[in-house]
Amino acid sequence: MATAVRTLRNFIDGQHADPAEGRTEPVLNPATGAQIAEAPLSTGADVDRAVAAARRAFDGWGGATPGERSVALLKIADAVEAHGDELAQLEAENAGKPLEAVKSDEIPVFVDNLRFFAGAARILEGKSAGEYMAGYTSMIRREPIGVVGQIAPWNYPLMMAGWKIGPALAAGNTVVLKPAETTPVTTLRLAEIAAEFLPPGVLNVITGHGDPAGQALVTHPEVDMVSLTGSVGTGKWIAKAAADSLKRVHLELGGKAPVVVFDDADLDAVAEAIAGAGYYNAGQDCTAATRVLVGGGLHDDLVAGLASQAQGLVIGDTMSADTTLGPLNSARQRERVAGFVERKPGNAEVVTGGRAPDRAGFFYEPTVVAGLRQDDEMIQQEIFGPVITVQRFSDEDEALRWANGTPYGLASSVWTRDVGRALRMSKALKFGCVWINDHIPLVSEMPHGGFKQSGYGKDLSQYGFEDYTQIKHVMANIQ
Ligand code: NAD
Repeated sequence: MATAVRTLRNFIDGQHADPAEGRTEPVLNPATGAQIAEAPLSTGADVDRAVAAARRAFDGWGGATPGERSVALLKIADAVEAHGDELAQLEAENAGKPLEAVKSDEIPVFVDNLRFFAGAARILEGKSAGEYMAGYTSMIRREPIGVVGQIAPWNYPLMMAGWKIGPALAAGNTVVLKPAETTPVTTLRLAEIAAEFLPPGVLNVITGHGDPAGQALVTHPEVDMVSLTGSVGTGKWIAKAAADSLKRVHLELGGKAPVVVFDDADLDAVAEAIAGAGYYNAGQDCTAATRVLVGGGLHDDLVAGLASQAQGLVIGDTMSADTTLGPLNSARQRERVAGFVERKPGNAEVVTGGRAPDRAGFFYEPTVVAGLRQDDEMIQQEIFGPVITVQRFSDEDEALRWANGTPYGLASSVWTRDVGRALRMSKALKFGCVWINDHIPLVSEMPHGGFKQSGYGKDLSQYGFEDYTQIKHVMANIQ
């Protein structure tokens, strides 16, 4: 049944707003290719309005007590939970995700993340006030930064909006948030839901492309901090652009997570867990378990196990509970993923998958590619699709060298029953996260963020929260 096409509007200063230049573009359901909404193509003038609203709201919100901010965030979390089915439906339609996965995984995680930051708002820490010089009392104040421009990607639109606004608002900042151009629907709905609990201007959402809307936000003189979850290229652009005004930058960029499997790992458990963490969200996950490095003793069995797991996934109607693999986010993303497979070098073997199924939407078959070498582009670049690569290593040194041998450093995992080896590898892996005998679970209390070109700054956790504060030293002459 065809659903009505929604007309989306920006959300600025507690109200809906049409784009200044009046231009809009279609938003598609990636699972069908059908239009589901028409979204504003915002420009610099819309960014100006949103930033001005955020600036006006800052004194009030930044001056609210932590307890007041905490209560507002808890109420937003409750309201999102109450609207969970509606938001899950919108997210599934807009991002092409299997509905059940959004309901059971993403909405509860969003709610938990926001409740965590509501709590974090009340437990800011610093060095204790004291006399560090005779006759003077020093104290630390942790203060909000101001207006934060936040830019989100399309793979988890609602969850990424939560990771951004949770710590920023908890710390007393006001926000202008731009979702990815292909996935604005739930972020705008979130702003409407949150408006009941926030003063106008505290949370503003504008839609549109990186150029011009995102760029105008990054370069705006009244924006004090920019946070991006997105690609490395966009992160580099933002870091350079922000250098002009030295505004603070928080970058969660791409990943190329190595999954290092030693011969003593439990084969059945590994194949199932890697496929689960590699094909989740059709591999469109910055921590996806898609770069497998395995010892010679398990290699052939693991390749076969992964192929069998891939073949067990069900591509289909994303509204059906039977469907376990959704599409890629756009035709462009599917072309990008297919391009990697088409350009595969002669040494590589496509064990299963490797093509787009013959159906509407931007689906791509779950794929396993073996025989790859360390300098092949499928190993060095983020594919961001349902493609798991496998390399065979000869010893622990080679495994570590290959695991660390890309520009990325977001997440990694090591699979072994040898505790010493697991801890040795955990120390030596240059990644912001190392899982031992698992891959992909995250918790609100622990940080998520990269080393190397995966960016800097943390999401989630007290560390992520503190990234949205600045430290002031107050020193009083008490003589
Ligand atoms: P992208 O960088 O193309 O776009 C991300 C966002 O940035 C979009 O909202 C886009 O409109 C905006 N943007 C693009 N150019 C811009 C510019 N010059 N100035 C300001 N804004 C700009 O990335 P994508 O392809 O949409 O998202 C996928 C990427 O995000 C992957 O690389 C993935 O690994 C990464 N990601 C990282 C994390 C993490 O936590 N590290 C989480 C999810 C996704």
